[in-house]
Parts: sequence; structure tokens; C-alpha cells
Amino acid sequence: KVSTKKDSEIHGAELIGITTRKEADFSNWYQQVLTKGDMLDYYDISGCYILKPWSYAVWEKVQRWFDDNIKTIGVENCYFPMFVSAKVLEREKDHIEGFAPEVAWVTKAGSTDLEEHIAIRPTSETVMYPYYAKWIRSHRDLPLKLNQWNSVVRWEFKHPQPFLRTREFLWQEGHTAHMTRKMAEEEVMQILDWYSGVYSELLAVPTIKGKKTEKEKFAGGLFTTTVEGYIPTTGRGIQGATSHCLGQNFSKMFNIIVENPDWKEGDPEEDKKVYVWQNSWGLSTRVIGVCVMIHGDNKGLVLPPKVAAHQVVIVPCGLTARTTDEERKTLLEGVSEIAVTLQKAGIRVKADTRETYSPGYKFNDWELKGVPLRIEYGPKDIVKKQVLSVRRDNGEKTPIPLDGLASTIQTLLDTIQSDLYIKAKKSFDEHTKIITKWEEFTPALNAKNVILIPHCDREECEDEIKERSKGTNEGGEPEDAKAPSMGAKSLCIPFEQPTGEHAIVPGTTKCTQCGENAKHYTLFGRSY
Ligand code: AMP
Repeated sequence: KVSTKKDSEIHGAELIGITTRKEADFSNWYQQVLTKGDMLDYYDISGCYILKPWSYAVWEKVQRWFDDNIKTIGVENCYFPMFVSAKVLEREKDHIEGFAPEVAWVTKAGSTDLEEHIAIRPTSETVMYPYYAKWIRSHRDLPLKLNQWNSVVRWEFKHPQPFLRTREFLWQEGHTAHMTRKMAEEEVMQILDWYSGVYSELLAVPTIKGKKTEKEKFAGGLFTTTVEGYIPTTGRGIQGATSHCLGQNFSKMFNIIVENPDWKEGDPEEDKKVYVWQNSWGLSTRVIGVCVMIHGDNKGLVLPPKVAAHQVVIVPCGLTARTTDEERKTLLEGVSEIAVTLQKAGIRVKADTRETYSPGYKFNDWELKGVPLRIEYGPKDIVKKQVLSVRRDNGEKTPIPLDGLASTIQTLLDTIQSDLYIKAKKSFDEHTKIITKWEEFTPALNAKNVILIPHCDREECEDEIKERSKGTNEGGEPEDAKAPSMGAKSLCIPFEQPTGEHAIVPGTTKCTQCGENAKHYTLFGRSY
């Protein structure tokens, strides 16, 4: 219970706060923070959740930022149907092998069995590419850059987690076609930078950029790049978003060909036509879950200012039974003036003038919902020409003069945003360990770290690492009874590799697990 007895007695409204500690029962804490913080509600189909306005607003901020960025490189939005025929879905063999276990099928309409079953897209490569083959007639039609903001369905059997792993999720999926490998690769990296930007700039979440190993790459693609995040409370890694270079695999399967404009008489005949180079890239509502898990605390959500629906909430204070109507009116007018001033400066502000609730109740309510900054304004503040600001992230209280209020508040919001990032980055850095002796691997994992090891790049070695790092997990993952002893997966091969004394010496540095020659450092961790 967060509210004081007095509040509830007076107003008959009891606010039930978070009843468990983040460190004690993370899974329960996460559920409570999401439901009591008004982000989400549970649904009667397992793995599906309702996104309430409070979380959808975060998604809208992410959408706006990312959409504005991709438009600068000429990406256009469009919409394709959610249904895909079995015949088309199965065109790319590796791709369908990767997705088959999770595909949901429509087999009936009313009481009639459908002659041909229809799949619901788990992703839209196979939905879109037959039309790319039709639309791309000449090199002049390239590059083709389309994006969809839609939902996809993956009937996963792993433990579902709101936002992180759901059976239907909202995302964007970009699908582009290029003349050359170089153009495709440049775009893959550009998109990855923006994914990293969604996390660092909007959500105040640090990630590590890298390439997926062959074992973990996207089914049917050439290579996958990723931003990997870290959840300190559980010590687990989380794949943030992925930008795939599909190479020419899909263009060969779907016959997406153009004539080579540079081909001359005498050049090899096979160079006359070019299979286009393709990319696909996706970022989902998972971002919201990652943000909540990292910044939330025992009072509830902590939203970064850049994505919060309300950045500031103003609560009128100090009204008592003895306050005259005139005083009340003056105070509320002041509150409304402050709101207008902030609004005009582009700050998303809410004046909480609900009469049935006490200030104490409102404080708790907005803390639960994670509003970055609270402004208290009472009769004494009127006299002093100031407000009292209270930061959600660290509780810091500062009086702020009304003179220059908007710019001071904006600076404070920027500080909150960057402090949240710095704190999360410190924790990620401190829990990223370089390990070169296998005996130290699992203990480091159990101590909630993600681990960089010199690695040989072999798939079998990854399998062995997963197997050998299972086992007791003291102090590790406390929240998922089904996976208390989960082994470590490769998260990515970071683009930024350790240097100096840690740098890989080809032919000399050995793989921490198997002792073969190491190719580079790979990041391993238990993961979501
Ligand atoms: P993929 O097409 O598999 O590369 O997925 C693209 C991105 O969507 C991933 O990097 C995840 O961040 C996210 N994602 C994948 N599966 C799910 C899921 N079941 N629920 C929510 N987000 C997901």
C-alpha cells in the first residue's frame, strides 16, 4: 500500500502500490508495474496483451522518431495483407524451416474447412517479395524501400513475457532491394544506428551493436546485425532489434531480377542479369518492456522524458478546509498558467486538478505511472513566485523560480534523460566481463554478467557452451521457474572489439571454451 491511511480515510480512494520488490520477485514486480502503472492488461489468450494508452504513447514516440529518420533515406510506408498462402510461405526453404514451428494457420471459415490453409504472417518476406518481382522491372526501379507498421503473429511456446515475447506483436518491418551488395550493406548499418538511437536517445537504454553468429542469424538471410541490451536485475541479455542483409537468397527464390546496366558485349553472359540485394529490418514493442525492466523501481514505472506521455505533472497543494474560495481560485489559476507556459514551450504537461483526491494520493499515482517530473504548487509558492519540482528517478526536490520556468524545466528533463542513460550504461559496463578461462565462465554468468570470450566461431562450440553453462544458478535468474538453469547463448559479435592487452592475436589467442584458434570476441549470456 502506497497511500497513507489518512489519504484513504479522507477520500475513500485507496491506491494500491507495488507490493513486491524488484530484486525479490522480478517477474511479479514486472507484472505489477505494468498493470498498476496502466501500461497493459492481460488477455484471455495466453501470450497476447492489451496495450493501453499509457504504453501506446511510448510506442508512438518511437514510431515518430524512427519513421522520420527512415523517410530521410527514401523509405515509404505501405501495407500488405496479413495472410499468406502455404505455397508462397514455403518458397524459401531455410526461412520457412526457421519459422514453421511458430506459424499460426487459418484452417476454417465458420464451420467450413478451408481447402487450402492460410498462414498468418510471422514476418512478411514471403508476403511481399512476389510483388517485388513484379514491380522491379529495371535497375531504374531500384532501390525499392518499403516499410510496414503492422503486427505479426509468432505462436511461440517459450514462456511469454509482456512486450518482450508475445504471440502477436506490433513492429515495423522494412524491406528494401538494391542494385549492389555495398548499397544494401550500407543501409543495414544505417538502420542499425537508428535502432541503437531508439534505445539510447529515446529510451535511455544502452545497447551493444554487433553481428549475430551463423547459428543465431535470421533464417534465410546472409547476415544479421543486432543491438543487444542487458537487464541488470536478472543479468540476462535481450535482443533489441535486428537489421538483416538477406543477400540474394530471396531474390533467387522469388526471381527478383534486373538487367545489369553496365553489361557490355563480351562480358560473361551470367553477369547480364542481376539478382537484387535485399535487406529486412524490424523493431518491435519489445522496446517498451526493456525500458520498463531497466528503469522501473519499487514505486513503479520510471519513464524517460523523451517517451513519457506526460513529462511533467502539476499537483496543486496546500488546500485545506480553511482555504477560502478566492485562495483556491488563485491557486488553480496559477496551476493553469504554469501548464500553459510549459505547453507553449513544447513540454508535455498535465495539471492534475482532480478534486476528489488528495495531493498525497496523486503523488503516489503519478509515481506509479512513472511521470518524470512532478511540480508541486501551493499558497507558499505563490508568495515566493516558485514551484517545487520532484524528480521521479531519484526523488530530488528543487524549488524553481517561476521566472524562466519552462527553460529550467526543459533542462531538468534533459538531465533526467541523460542520468537514466548513464546509470543503465554503468550497470551494463560493470556486468560485461571478459573471460579467458572456462572455469570462470559459469560463475560469472551466475553473478548476472554477460560475457565476452575469445571465440572460435564454430556452431558446435556455441552448443557446447550452452550445455556446459547450464546447471545451478545461484544468485542468477530468480524469476523463471521453467528456466532456472538456462545455458548461455551467443548474443552477438560486437563491432567494437576489446583492444590493447585483450586484443585477439590471430593464431595465438585461443577460444575460451574449446581451445581452438579464436576469431574474435563474442558476447554470451543467458537471454530472454
Ligand atoms: P526478427 O524478425 O526475428 O529478427 O525480429 C525482429 C525483432 O522483433 C527482434 O529483434 C525482436 O526485438 C522483436 N521480436 C521478435 N520476436 C518477438 C516477440 N515474440 N515479441 C516481441 N518482439 C519480438
